[in-house]
Amino acid sequence: MSQEIPYKIYLSEAEIPKAWYNMRADMKEKPAPLLNPGTLKPMTKEELSVVFCEELVDQELDNDNAYIPIPEEIRNFYKMYRPAPLIRAYCLEEKLKTPAKIYYKFEGNNTSGSHKLNSAIAQAYYAKKQGLKGVTTETGAGQWGTALSMACAYLGLDCKVYMVKVSYEQKPFRREVMRTYGASVTPSPSDTTQIGRKILSEFPGTTGSLGCAISEAVEVAVNTPGYRYVLGSVLNQVLLHQSVIGLETKAALDKYGVKADIVIGCAGGGSNLGGLIAPFMGEKLRGEADYRIIAVEPQSCPSFTRGRYAYDFCDTGMVCPLAKMYTLGSSFIPAPNHAGGLRYHGMSSTLSKLYDDKMMEAVSVKQTDVFRAAEMFARVEGILPAPESSHAIKVAVDEALKCKETGEAKTIVFGLTGTGYFDMVAYEKFHDNKMTDYIPTDEELEASLSKLPKV
Ligand SMILES: *Cc1c(COP(=O)(O)O)cnc(C)c1O
Repeated sequence: MSQEIPYKIYLSEAEIPKAWYNMRADMKEKPAPLLNPGTLKPMTKEELSVVFCEELVDQELDNDNAYIPIPEEIRNFYKMYRPAPLIRAYCLEEKLKTPAKIYYKFEGNNTSGSHKLNSAIAQAYYAKKQGLKGVTTETGAGQWGTALSMACAYLGLDCKVYMVKVSYEQKPFRREVMRTYGASVTPSPSDTTQIGRKILSEFPGTTGSLGCAISEAVEVAVNTPGYRYVLGSVLNQVLLHQSVIGLETKAALDKYGVKADIVIGCAGGGSNLGGLIAPFMGEKLRGEADYRIIAVEPQSCPSFTRGRYAYDFCDTGMVCPLAKMYTLGSSFIPAPNHAGGLRYHGMSSTLSKLYDDKMMEAVSVKQTDVFRAAEMFARVEGILPAPESSHAIKVAVDEALKCKETGEAKTIVFGLTGTGYFDMVAYEKFHDNKMTDYIPTDEELEASLSKLPKV
């Protein structure tokens, strides 16, 4: 080692990336396009512009430009909480007595408490630039809604959030943070939309799902002049914005001449993972370097590991375009999992393609194992992790323990996407031994997979 590596590697403000990196440009075979559910033809710019802001549609459809400049206004906003530190987990290594070197990129250093602000500010910026009055969205655990309401408050945009009912009830404080930033928050399914009323009548007592909140938010956006819909994960544009995570991580490692062997991230819709791995995957795609890349998902919502690679609806109400992705079926409603941000039935189409091409791996983990890892991490590293992030911790620990057996000093990098202060009900259940590990049966999965659209 040429120089001592600090606990925290900070870049300077000037080193915040000036352009986002678009992995699709380096993919020989591109991810399958979004399809119009009526015609089964690829969605055009005009069709997508009814729902999304125009510049975001351009980014969504851009398979060719590797670098997309980050507007100065967005970079200035990033300066309020970025660059995010890359932390060497010396204390965790010592606790595990592993020869592995573990690093984590910490994205929880902002009030919203997660990486989602990276895309929220970008999407709000383009909405503002288009002269819109406001945006609508869904939120699962509440992190995306919080991030978006912060971004909208900053830019003076109205923000209507449909929040998955189980989270609305479990996380009243999240809701109040959003309202503090001026957003209106409605539990979903609700009776304020046609689709919400339909879902409520078919599944009375449902705790909701991201898929159904998306349908409601889209319905409101399309029917309200001056509004568009924004989504916090899954889409290409979101992965693009999140590439700041990976670009900073890579720059920090390069600064100290460190080469990662394994890159690990939790995967809900795939945005933090897609962002973290972007420059590493880029090198892999161009044949310049090799990395093991691992997606971690909950066993309760195992899109990669037990889902099917097929065209499916992005939402329960089947109003959104079809995306080809690893999916459990848009009618799959996962058991109320405490890692609310990982409850989506599908997965980014870009990551799905990369996984199908064997460019990355995926594992699923049990909820109680995740919380055990989270607690150990909190005790040695100090940061109280979000349950979602703790999926990555769990697998980083597993990989580090494998190194202990083999004596290999691998370099493991994982994404610590956020903090868990609003997840204390889940931590409480874990401490009181009341947490369960619900794993869907094959029959349950088959029930929703059998309803996949025939494309
Ligand atoms: C939303 C969220 C996730 C999962 O979403 P992705 O789009 O898969 O990144 C992970 N961690 C935290 C803290 C989140 O808020």
